Amino acid sequence: MGAKISRLKLFMKIAKNVAFNLSLLFFLAVVSSCHFGVNSSYNAEIPSVNAEAKPTPSVDSEIVITIAAVGDIMLGSPFPNDSRMPPNDGADLLKPAESILKSADIAFGNLEGPLADGGVSTKCGKGKSRCFAFRMPTRYGRYLKEAGFDVLSLANNHAGDFGDAGRASTRKTLDELGIKHAGSDKEQYAWTILEVKGKKIGFIGFAHNNISLNINDLETAKRVVADLKKRVDIVVVSFHGGAEGAGNQRVPKQTEYFFGEARGNLPLFARTVIDAGASLVLGHGPHVLRGMEIYKDRLVVYSLGNFVTYGWFRLEGPTAETMVLEVKIDSQGKFLGGKIHPFKLEGRGILVKDDTKSAIYTVRRLSEMDFPETAPRIEDDGSVFPR
Ligand SMILES: [Zn+2]
Repeated sequence: MGAKISRLKLFMKIAKNVAFNLSLLFFLAVVSSCHFGVNSSYNAEIPSVNAEAKPTPSVDSEIVITIAAVGDIMLGSPFPNDSRMPPNDGADLLKPAESILKSADIAFGNLEGPLADGGVSTKCGKGKSRCFAFRMPTRYGRYLKEAGFDVLSLANNHAGDFGDAGRASTRKTLDELGIKHAGSDKEQYAWTILEVKGKKIGFIGFAHNNISLNINDLETAKRVVADLKKRVDIVVVSFHGGAEGAGNQRVPKQTEYFFGEARGNLPLFARTVIDAGASLVLGHGPHVLRGMEIYKDRLVVYSLGNFVTYGWFRLEGPTAETMVLEVKIDSQGKFLGGKIHPFKLEGRGILVKDDTKSAIYTVRRLSEMDFPETAPRIEDDGSVFPR
C-alpha cells in the first residue's frame, strides 16, 4: 500500500513537472515569436535561426556604439624629397586628438596616400604641372596605431599614388599593426568587419575612381551595401567624393565635377546606400568641412575635411578648419547623438585644438543652409542631436 502511494506520488510529481515544462515552453514560444516580430521589421533578411540567437531588443537597445571619425590623413611624404617632412619625424602629429580617438569604440579616418618606402609613381608624368603624388614612410604606421585608429579607408585618389605595390605595402603595414582597412580595391578589399560589444560593424569604401567601388555607380553601390548588410549588424559607408577646396563647401544636389572627373551626386549616393541598409555615411574628399543631414534616422556627414595633411597643401581658412566627429549609434544603426570636437591646422599642417570652435559653427551653418529640413541640431558646445 505504502509502495503504491509513493508510486502515485511519483506519478503526480512527474505529471506536474511535465505540465510545468509544457507551459514554460508555450510561454517561451510566445515570447520568442514576439521578439522575432520586432526584429524582423529591422532585419528582414536575417534568417529566423539567427534572430532567435540574438539578445532581446530591450537588451539590444541599451548598446551604444561610439565612432570617432576624421577626414584626410597624410602625415608627410619623403617623395620627391625630404623638404616637406614633418618635425620630430611625425611622432607628434596625431597626439592632440589621441584621447578622443582612443575613447571611442571605433576610430575611423581616411588615409590619403600609401604607406610605402619606395616604388615608382606613374602619376606625375611629363607635362603634368598640377600633380601630387605622396607616400608615407611605413614607420609612420605606428603613429596611426598609437593614436587609436581601428579602421582606415583606402578608397581615395591618393592611396594608389605608388600603384599596386604601394597599395600592397599599405595593406601589409596596416595588417601588421592590426588596423583594419577598406576600399583599396573593389574586389578583394572593398570592405572589412570589426566586432564591438558583440555587434559586427562593416566598413565599406567608395571613391571616384575605378580601383575602388565607384561613387557614381549607384546600382553596384546598392548591391554591395545590401550584400554586406547580410553579414553584419551595422554598415558604415565611407566615401571620397565631391569637388575640392574652399569654394566647394556647399553640397549640390547633382553630380559634382572636378578636374573633369565625376565625383558623385552625394545626397543621392547617401540616400541610395542608406536605403540599401547603411547606418552611417562618412564623407571626405573636398579637403574642407561640409554640412551634415539625417535621413531615415541615419547620419550623413558630407565632408570631414582635412584632418592631418602635412606639408603639401595651403592650409588657411576653411582648409585649416577640422574636427573629430564623435557619433553614437544604437545596435540598429540609428543615430543617437554626437559631438564635434573642433581642431585647426597650423603652419604646414600641425593639428591643434581650436578654442574658437570655428568647426562647430561652420558645420552648423552649412548643415542648415544645405539641409534646412534634415540637418541635425548642433549646439554651441558641439553637441549634435537628431532633430
Ligand atoms: Zn582626395
